[in-house]
Amino acid sequence: MGKRIHNFNAGPAALPLPVLEKIREELLDFKGSGMSILEVSHRSKWFDDVINDAVERTKRILNLGDDFHVLFIQGGASMQFCMVPMNLCIEGKPADYINTGTWATKAIKEAKVLKKDVRVIASSEDKNFSYIPKDYKISADSAYLHFTSNNTIKGTQWRELPQVKDVPLVSDMSSDFMSRPFDVRPFGLIYAGAQKNIGPAGTCMVIVRKDMLKRTPGDLPAMLKYTTFADNNSMYNTPSCFSIYVIALVLKWLEETIGGLEKMAQINRQKGDVIYGFIDKSDFYKGTAEKDSRSLMNVTFRLPTEDLEKKFIAEATDNRLGGLKGHRSVGGCRASIYNATGLDAVKTLTEFMAEFERKAG
Ligand SMILES: *Cc1c(COP(=O)(O)O)cnc(C)c1O
Repeated sequence: MGKRIHNFNAGPAALPLPVLEKIREELLDFKGSGMSILEVSHRSKWFDDVINDAVERTKRILNLGDDFHVLFIQGGASMQFCMVPMNLCIEGKPADYINTGTWATKAIKEAKVLKKDVRVIASSEDKNFSYIPKDYKISADSAYLHFTSNNTIKGTQWRELPQVKDVPLVSDMSSDFMSRPFDVRPFGLIYAGAQKNIGPAGTCMVIVRKDMLKRTPGDLPAMLKYTTFADNNSMYNTPSCFSIYVIALVLKWLEETIGGLEKMAQINRQKGDVIYGFIDKSDFYKGTAEKDSRSLMNVTFRLPTEDLEKKFIAEATDNRLGGLKGHRSVGGCRASIYNATGLDAVKTLTEFMAEFERKAG
């Protein structure tokens, strides 16, 4: 060891070191099977235990009652952009969407491709998606309200979830899922691509309230219906076995090593205080998100010039601080500080930032 860097990648992203070590330890002989988890049948007892463990841990961590299914669906969060409207729209009712950035824009686009009655009830596009909208009216008759809880590219995050009465919430939580506790009751569906905060690429976790499944039209192809996944414990076809295995290990780490979501949220707040506290004191670095909308997962910032940004990223890389380049669509810098990126990494980064400013500023 000693060769690992501090990893600030946006996704796929850092995994907890004890998880990686466990994978290595179990790789050649998974639980006495004489095979790797990459080689066992998804119809075996070994894999059954793995997927059930991932589901049970999810239910425990989020306090989910028996009225929710936990599913694993391939195609990433992007597949959910179409599966959600296909399954949950109701003829004659609009679906409300709030547009807070690139991913929400894509979700809206897919619902429109399907010719659904989409209403964009709020958007922060007027200020380059640098804030979370506060004024919006949810149509009382809408099929659901879709929002992106954390905007990975623009670096904004909902502090409080939208308030709804009878309209079910649907959220793309890809980049802050399992980073803080929240009340699941208003949600009809939650989805999260695994590769940001809960595992490797290859699967998307979908949590769906059972009554929502009544909406699924019968004439959808099997692989696009939530009911197919719900009726078959996500194993109608071969699931992304290895991803699900790693997710189970990450959730075990979250429960047993960290101590659950409340503790995780506390650590994430500390990390945010350190890096935003530093940025706020500096005239050299400028955060791009409005203060009350800032993300605790993706910290986006700019330096005085693009040349300095290039130099900053290059020198950071030389100093074993990786993944700090902003998304190709927005430029600038971004430090993704998901659950697996610890307070020590964030402190090391801010020390480097201070030193870079001292030399260049
Ligand atoms: C990364 C990301 C996506 C896209 O995920 P894929 O698994 O690549 O489809 C969608 N939404 C959000 C919020 C993301 O961060």
